[in-house]
Amino acid sequence: MNEINFKSYPLNEDIKRALDVLKYNIPTRVQRVVIPQALDGKDLIVKSQTGSGKTAAYAIPICEKIEWLENNVQALVLTPTRELAAQVREDIANIGRFKRIKSLALYGKEPFAIQQDELKQKTHVVVGTPGRVNDHIEQQTLDLDQVKYLVIDEADEMLRMGFIDEVEAIIKQLPANRVTMVYSATIPEQIEKLCQQYMGDPIKVDIPSDDSSGSIEHRLFEVKRDEKLALVKDVTIMENPDSCIIFCNTQERVNEVAVELEQEGYTCDQIHGGLEQDKRFSVMEGFKSGEFRYLVATDVAARGIDVDNVSLIINFDIPREKQSYVHRTGRTGRAGNRGQAITFVTPTEERYLQSIENYIGLGLTVNEAPSRAEVREAKEAFNQKMAERRIVKNNKSARINQDIIKLHFNGGKRKKIRAVDLVGTISNIPNVSAEDIGIISIKDNWSYVDILNGKGSLVLEAMEYTKIKGKSIKVRKANK
Ligand code: AMP
Repeated sequence: MNEINFKSYPLNEDIKRALDVLKYNIPTRVQRVVIPQALDGKDLIVKSQTGSGKTAAYAIPICEKIEWLENNVQALVLTPTRELAAQVREDIANIGRFKRIKSLALYGKEPFAIQQDELKQKTHVVVGTPGRVNDHIEQQTLDLDQVKYLVIDEADEMLRMGFIDEVEAIIKQLPANRVTMVYSATIPEQIEKLCQQYMGDPIKVDIPSDDSSGSIEHRLFEVKRDEKLALVKDVTIMENPDSCIIFCNTQERVNEVAVELEQEGYTCDQIHGGLEQDKRFSVMEGFKSGEFRYLVATDVAARGIDVDNVSLIINFDIPREKQSYVHRTGRTGRAGNRGQAITFVTPTEERYLQSIENYIGLGLTVNEAPSRAEVREAKEAFNQKMAERRIVKNNKSARINQDIIKLHFNGGKRKKIRAVDLVGTISNIPNVSAEDIGIISIKDNWSYVDILNGKGSLVLEAMEYTKIKGKSIKVRKANK
């Protein structure tokens, strides 16, 4: 069964090349079921956990089916959180890198005008949160008339966060003739109803969770409320994970735990909904790139975080909602790796534990708190690890972008520069072809061009003495 390889899939060479660089060789279970159906234009309701490869399950067929030449948004992905929108956009950009698929994330708290400006560029795929997508529809800055693919990701979470009416309002704006895919860890009644109403005879796909949660060891510690801080330190010293997310139920508690750990010398940061969006993204970037090992978080961080194998999840506070347990622990044991999940339970919280155990169909193994002597013995190794930076083994975006340089051209719409002028000029440079040109964005006064295949310096040098439409235009490496 595992012999199936993406190489044998009916996919464009540009997509296969990206999958190869991303090291997606063997499709995961959800991908094996979903990709052929989606390529065939079927509506799908997919019950699948995060960590199972579900993003690529829809991103691969979407990237395959996008008509590059068409200047319209052809696929819309709705996600419940900004973090997930940013993550999905990046995954789509990576898979569509060599096909030059332009994807854009739309979410609140980022200036509307910037997004409006971006939407004027060629945009094939929009990934957004329902609120901001609706704003763009109302302001007529987002044209969805040509959407052929709609994905509702983490539909159960949309419902939980009260977004389902907004989702419905968006669906009503879309062409009826489209493929719809709904992804959800559970399919509550209201989602089922929505699907019946807006999907044409959908195929139901239920991927048992063993792709992800079977690879997680679930344990628990019984602890008094005021002893949790001491226990979290002892447990982390004993476990000494390469990376760890500690979940708390409130922002105040996140702050309290993070400050305490920082004082103890942990490399640590915090994330919750009370932080500015920029700060939230920079914390996530820092965690992903290995700047610190411990992230203390509210449920905000349980969504859409794809960090190179988080080794340990600690529920400092047991989640009040059983679904949340699955989302939190789904941050570990991803893509075939093994993971650890530890939950602290106080004597008054037994009922939450029971509800979680019933829900996941598994009893959490009770552990004894480590002894003083055990902690003392483990401390040296812990200190040593804390002094070393975490090595990120699998930075997919860095790998896919390594041969790509973004160039800044000091001329845009006002100088009447069009994409065809840039392609014509650049592909005339000796040893450079149209294949080496990636995404182009043309602003009023300047333009950006991605140069692929390691040809960036060559283009940069040649442009010193090459004119575009008879005009000399300064070219430099773009800042980002
Ligand atoms: P997701 O469930 O979409 O959040 O994906 C979980 C993780 O699996 C992400 O790190 C993906 O990049 C990775 N992944 C997805 N598909 C594959 C594949 N076919 N082979 C290896 N890793 C994959």
